[in-house]
Amino acid sequence: APAFDPRAARRDFPILNQTVHGKPLIWLDNAATTQKPQAVIDRLARFYAEENSNIHRAAHALAARATDAYEDAREKVRRFVGAADTREIVFVRGATEAINLVAKAWGHQFVREGDEIVVTWLEHHANIVPWQQLCAETGARLRVVPVDDDGQIRMDEYARLLGPRTKLVSLTLVSNALGTVTPAAEMVAMARAAGIRTLVDGAQAVSHMPVNVQSLGCDFFVLSGHKMFAPTGIGVLYGRLDVLEGMRPWQGGGNMIADVTFEKTAYQPAPMRFEAGTGNIADAVGLGAAIAYLERIGMPAIAAYEHHLLDYATAGLLTVPGLRLIGTAREKAGVLSFVLDGCKTEDIGRALDREGIAVRSGHHCAQPILRRFGVESTVRPSLAFYNTCEDIDALTAALHRVRAELVRRGQRS
Ligand code: PMP
Repeated sequence: APAFDPRAARRDFPILNQTVHGKPLIWLDNAATTQKPQAVIDRLARFYAEENSNIHRAAHALAARATDAYEDAREKVRRFVGAADTREIVFVRGATEAINLVAKAWGHQFVREGDEIVVTWLEHHANIVPWQQLCAETGARLRVVPVDDDGQIRMDEYARLLGPRTKLVSLTLVSNALGTVTPAAEMVAMARAAGIRTLVDGAQAVSHMPVNVQSLGCDFFVLSGHKMFAPTGIGVLYGRLDVLEGMRPWQGGGNMIADVTFEKTAYQPAPMRFEAGTGNIADAVGLGAAIAYLERIGMPAIAAYEHHLLDYATAGLLTVPGLRLIGTAREKAGVLSFVLDGCKTEDIGRALDREGIAVRSGHHCAQPILRRFGVESTVRPSLAFYNTCEDIDALTAALHRVRAELVRRGQRS
């Protein structure tokens, strides 16, 4: 296979070809959202220019075109995540909505007082709050698997937390705050062996590595399109067919019904049962285009390149005096999280922005894991395959300057 060329890939993303504050834009906020290739932008325009219609209802040419495009996107998602059947792919708004769907539909059907839901310290708030709400509503209890000082899951503690009361294990595959790649397949296997349902949050994984829900073995898997080069407002809930078919719907309305009278409604089978109302048709089609784009490059090539880039970036950051990297697990993807010798993280973010470098400073919607490391906020550069070693060199050089300047101005707190 030809070697992966990040500079060629970068040319596919028109937004990257601009200056901010007079400096070439260096986009290192990919964990918050990724940029969109021209192929996705063009596909959205073509949908609205040539195909736009509601789906599944009207019997006319455009409805057929829109339906075909939407269902073709579903098939692309199925292939991308390695699902066995397109009926296992539910379109939702994003990872947050997917997890809420499972908590509200599956959770209220199967979770009772005294049951336990297991999550990890690494979770994004989207994989904490819905379970907390479910626990408050049902009398179930939330249990949390701790991490070690590198930010990796304590498997001994995990094994201890699994018990006869455990109903669900819900964990991330990649931490958005630290970049830790968790041993999700092993954790799912342990849960399954005990008859426990599992949800894997793939929001931060799918842009960095090949994933396969069947080799993960999970019952549910969630992702957000906008974190994998697709539009905002579209995401996916994968559910194993037998699990989805045993689930009551979440929202009610059009599209999800087979027959309605005032006495009784019969529902569609999965996935329509979980797609009430008019969905985000165009952006689902856009997600399909993003997947086609990624498949042309190849996720294995992306994973190999980013592995190298992350090592390069880690080494670069560690040359900055006073920099403390948070999250030092051996297996990481896409994310670097750090604090700098008492400098305020928001000052670092602002100073980098003035140099054209976009990173996120803050709690990254994962307050518990940052507090586990004694901080409220970190600076988080996050990578995608269109980033280059030159981007990293610019970041490292800027951090050397920013630190010297902040220290000189006495802004150390
Ligand atoms: N899980 C993880 C690991 C994430 O990184 C994010 C987004 N930061 C989410 C869930 C929620 O995704 P969204 O906001 O797209 O619903």
